Formats: sequence, C-alpha cells, structure tokens
Amino acid sequence: MTTTACGDDADLLIRGRILAGGADDAVFSALAVRDGRIVAVDAEAEALPARRTLELDGRTAVAGINDAHLHAAWLGARWPHLFFSDTPAHEQPSGRLVSDRSERRAALRRAWRLLAELGITSYTEPGIGPGEDDGETGCFGTDMLEAYLELHRERAQISRVTLLRLFGTIDGESDLADVERGIRSPAPETDPDWLAITGVKIFADGIPPLATAWVDEPYADGSHGGLLTRGGDDPLSAFRRMIELAAAAGQQIAVHATGDRSIAEFASALESAMGPTPPAPHYVVHGDLATADLIARLRTVGAGFAVQPLIAAHTHDWAGAILGAERLADAWPLAAMLDSGALTTVTSDSPIASPDWRVSLDACLEQLTAAGATDDRATRRRLLRSMTADAARQDGASAWKGTLETGKVADITVLDEDPTDPGRPFATIGVARTIVDGRTVHSRD
Ligand SMILES: [Zn+2]
Repeated sequence: MTTTACGDDADLLIRGRILAGGADDAVFSALAVRDGRIVAVDAEAEALPARRTLELDGRTAVAGINDAHLHAAWLGARWPHLFFSDTPAHEQPSGRLVSDRSERRAALRRAWRLLAELGITSYTEPGIGPGEDDGETGCFGTDMLEAYLELHRERAQISRVTLLRLFGTIDGESDLADVERGIRSPAPETDPDWLAITGVKIFADGIPPLATAWVDEPYADGSHGGLLTRGGDDPLSAFRRMIELAAAAGQQIAVHATGDRSIAEFASALESAMGPTPPAPHYVVHGDLATADLIARLRTVGAGFAVQPLIAAHTHDWAGAILGAERLADAWPLAAMLDSGALTTVTSDSPIASPDWRVSLDACLEQLTAAGATDDRATRRRLLRSMTADAARQDGASAWKGTLETGKVADITVLDEDPTDPGRPFATIGVARTIVDGRTVHSRD
C-alpha cells in the first residue's frame, strides 16, 4: 500500500449502519478508506480528517457481493437474454456472439457495468482458455482471455475477477493430453488483486435433468450418465490423472460435478492427491446430488461447493421425472452443505440464471425454509456470507477481501435497507451504490 503526503487523512469516510460481515457479526457506525483500503472503523474512523464523507442516511453498507460462479464474458455477450427467462427460445441468441476484439471487450465492459449496478464487486469467471478456441459462441476461448488481459493491463476493470483456465470444452468433453499441456503452460502474469488466475476448471459430467449426471443408482431409463473426460485408459483414469496433475502443479481445481458418482470420484482423487497448497481451495461446481457423506468427505479435504439455487428452482420439476421422488427430495442439499461447515458459495451461473444475487438469496431462503429453517437474522447473515466472506475464501482472498474490516479492501455495496432484517424478499431491497477499491463504480442517484 502506498502512503500519500497527508498520510493520516482518509479519502472517504462512510457514516451509518455498516455490517462488517465477519463471524462476529460486528456492526460499525463509521468506516474510513485510504488508497482503496479500510484504514479505521467507528470512532477511529471519525477522528481521521476525510476528503469526502458519504452519509448512509438510513441505508446499510455490506461487504461487496462476490458471485463465485458467473460467466461474465458470456453474460455480457448475451445480455439481456438469460437462459432461464421470459425470452422465448426463438429469440435466444445463438451461434457466434462475439467475433472480434472490440466485441469481446464490449461484452466484458457490458457485464462489468451490469454487475456494478447489481452491487457485485467480485466474481469468478469459471473457464476460459484454449479448449474453447473453436467454440460456437466465441465467449470462452484464448481470444477472450486476451481481452481480459488487455482490459486488466489498462486498469479498466470495475470488478475483481478470479479466473479459471479451461483446457477442454465448456459443458463438454476434455482430453487428458490437452489438459496436461494446459496445466503445464504458465498462466499469464497479472495483479491478483484484480485478475487472479488461480487454477483450472474441469467438466466431470452433465446435469440430472438430461440424465447426463454420473450417478450410482440408475435413472428411470436404466442409464447412469458418465464422465466427460477422455484419454488415458478410460474416462475415470483420465479424470483422476487430470486432478493429480493440477494438484501437483499447485493449482485450484473446480470440477463441474452434479452426480453423486462424479462427486465421489472427485473426493477420492483429492484424498490421494499430492502437491503444494493451492492458492485457493478446490471445489465442486453444482453438487446437485451430493450426499451427506460426500459433503463430509469434501469438507475433510478442505474442499467446498459452489451452488446455484436458481438452477435448482428452475430444473427441480424437470429433473424429478428422471430422478424419482426419493432422490429428488435429497437433491440440491443446500441446508446440509451450510450445516456441514464445508465451504459453500451461493452463485448465479449467469447467464444461465439471473445475475441478480438478491434473487438467488431469495431462492435459498425458499429452499431453506422448506427444509425447516426460519427466515431470521441468523439465516440471512449466513446467506449473505456465502456471497461475501465465503466467496472470498473460495478465491483464496480472505486475508484482504470479503468482509469490511481494517486492512481489507474497500469493496462495499450500499443497500436501501438492512438485508438481514427478516420478513421480506432480498429482491425488494434497492442497490444504492457500489464501491470497488474505494471508488464508486455505480451510484443510482
Ligand atoms: Zn457455469
């Protein structure tokens, strides 16, 4: 951190109700920011001469929202068309969505503006790389990584990004030789505060409604789904080898796994993996059919889950026919994940579902209350943590973001009301202002 000539002054003083978002649920009345970092809270903050003061006037400040699984390039290219939306099938964008450098840059900038409006200050871009160089949309290949790097070097970002490299196809097959070559290739040099390239995304299987999730107990039609990994002696040995290589290279591993069998194989690969401590914890993306035993195994190896309550809500009935009532009742075990102590992040997977985190948290509330939880302050704080402090943990960035505490970055979302007050939807709470690195990137007024 650099110090300025007037080293003890604050650039910004925020005064009002400030939820720190840490484990002790501290509430501050003031917060001072200098050079993008929080330098003091409460009376100490008030005592600092500040160049600017922001009065919250009854609004509530929370740690900046972090969507730990959101395809920003694809979202920016498709916006306003989401997969789960009122857009009829024939009006959905298809084919090539971005064709040249300027379209790729525009897609990222469009996504960043949208996220700023929603109060989102960080996200994980889960899968960009050579595996998609011939991809249909143009949103996931090396050219898009280049667009990220350009804008990053131009300091044009208004969202912090964690990026996973992709050496196979998105939602499709990957080949062991390609993944091995990719893992061995060095990641580009970046400033990890803004663009952290932490590891690799691997697709293990498909999704339950299409009977492509790899499951132990057969589907209604007798099939089991299977792995998407290729090469080696068979799909399983290819999958295990990919995990082994990424772990040995000290990379974060995020595996798209929805079926219990895929999740079990990921757990077992991690249990025997050797290598340096990764920059950030490994995790399952989706985890639809994770059992209590699998959740416990992932937790024991320090791994977590990035889940999408909106996908669960949208596909629940569709999946029911193929899963059967009993398995459906245990699917998308959000409550069990949260109770287990395993790292759990609530994410949108946008543009599949809405990038509006408030709608995702309402879907969580619905799922949790249906499972017997109460819509109270503790539940809401827990949910908010899954998109702030826990998302920062998934990024390997707990030391410097995710909560509003002295020494951490000033990434702040200002809401019209306190989101931990029970009894009304998160979606009705307006986002008044978004601050990233101490700088306002969105102000509604
Ligand atoms: Zn995704």
